[in-house]
Order: sequence, then structure tokens, then C-alpha cells
Amino acid sequence: MVEFAKQLSYLLRMASHEIEALTQALSRLPGLGPRSARRAVLHLLKKRETALDPLLAALESVSRKLSTCGICGNVDTVSPCSICADPRREARSLCVVEEVADLWALDRSRLFPGRFHVLGGRLSALEGVRPEDLRIDSLVARIAGGGVDEVVLAMNATLEGQTTAHYVAERIESYPVRVTQLAHGLPVGGELDYLDEGTLAQALRARRPVA
Ligand SMILES: [Zn+2]
Repeated sequence: MVEFAKQLSYLLRMASHEIEALTQALSRLPGLGPRSARRAVLHLLKKRETALDPLLAALESVSRKLSTCGICGNVDTVSPCSICADPRREARSLCVVEEVADLWALDRSRLFPGRFHVLGGRLSALEGVRPEDLRIDSLVARIAGGGVDEVVLAMNATLEGQTTAHYVAERIESYPVRVTQLAHGLPVGGELDYLDEGTLAQALRARRPVA
């Protein structure tokens, strides 16, 4: 009996150790601190069939199939990714972004009907990121292959993002494509008083005639 009690207490300790490990793993996710991670774990434990098991199945499936799209650099469970493989997408417009997260954000907005190209970062002298570290050659190859009319440079409005945009624009200037860039300016609902000087300066530079 003593042996059984020992075993039970050992099992409980093991379980709590495993649950603790799960909590720690979740708390390292962006946007989740230890407190939210504990709440998520508690929810998963209480709702095993409706929350824990489906999550486990989804994680396993994604982990097994995860791949980087050989054409655009998107992360998906198929390659070419579902965007590159979608015949309804306008193949003549190409939107160049720094990271997969930017692609997903633009895709969620459903405002861009074309396809994408993910550079995998931005040029940075400070972090030692050179052009050959980014997927720039494959972008040039895509454009050189023909079938592209417009390239939208959708880099971040940071110094490094804009340096990258200038570099990419130079690399593709000899091809017969229209190169455009996202406008930077006043956020919708933004008040001048709250804007930083960079945003304000961009908005002033990008001013247009009153319609
Ligand atoms: Zn793709």
C-alpha cells in the first residue's frame, strides 16, 4: 500500500512536471505570457476532446507537412504553396515582402489579388544581412522569366526596409515591369498630434491634390 501511494505521488509529480513543461512551451509563444499560458493549459486539460485532441492533431499534421514554398518562400503544408497554386490569383502582379508574417497580413486583408515573394528578412549592415542572404536572386529570376507586369515593394517603413526596397528596385530596373511601393502616411483614424515625425514626414511627402 505504501508502495502504491509512493507510485501515485510519483505519477502526480510526473504529470505536474509535464504540464509545467507544456505551460512553459506555450508561454514562450509570441503574445502569450506565463499567465495566459496557464489559462490556456487549464482550458486544454478541461476540454480534452474539443480542445486538446484537435490541437494535437493539427500540430502533428502541420509539423509533418511543413515546407517552404519553392516559388515564393511562403510557409505552408504544400509546395508550391496554396497562393502560388491558386489559378484565381493574378500572376502578373507580384508583391514583395520581408517576412512570411507580412505576406499573411496582406493576404488576410484580401486587398491584393496577385502573388507574393518573401525575401526572408531585410538588408542590415548592423546584423550583417547581405543581399545574398535574402531571396533576391530568386525574385530577379522570377521577373526575368516573364509574365510579371507589376512589382509592388511592400517593405516595412523602417530605414532597413526602405534600403532593401531601393536595392530590390535597382536590381529589377532593367526589366520591363512597373515598380510601385506601398504609400506610407496617416493611419486611418490617426490624429496628427499622436504621430511620430517619420510618419508625418512621409504623409507630407506623399501628399496629393484634393479630389
Ligand atoms: Zn508560394
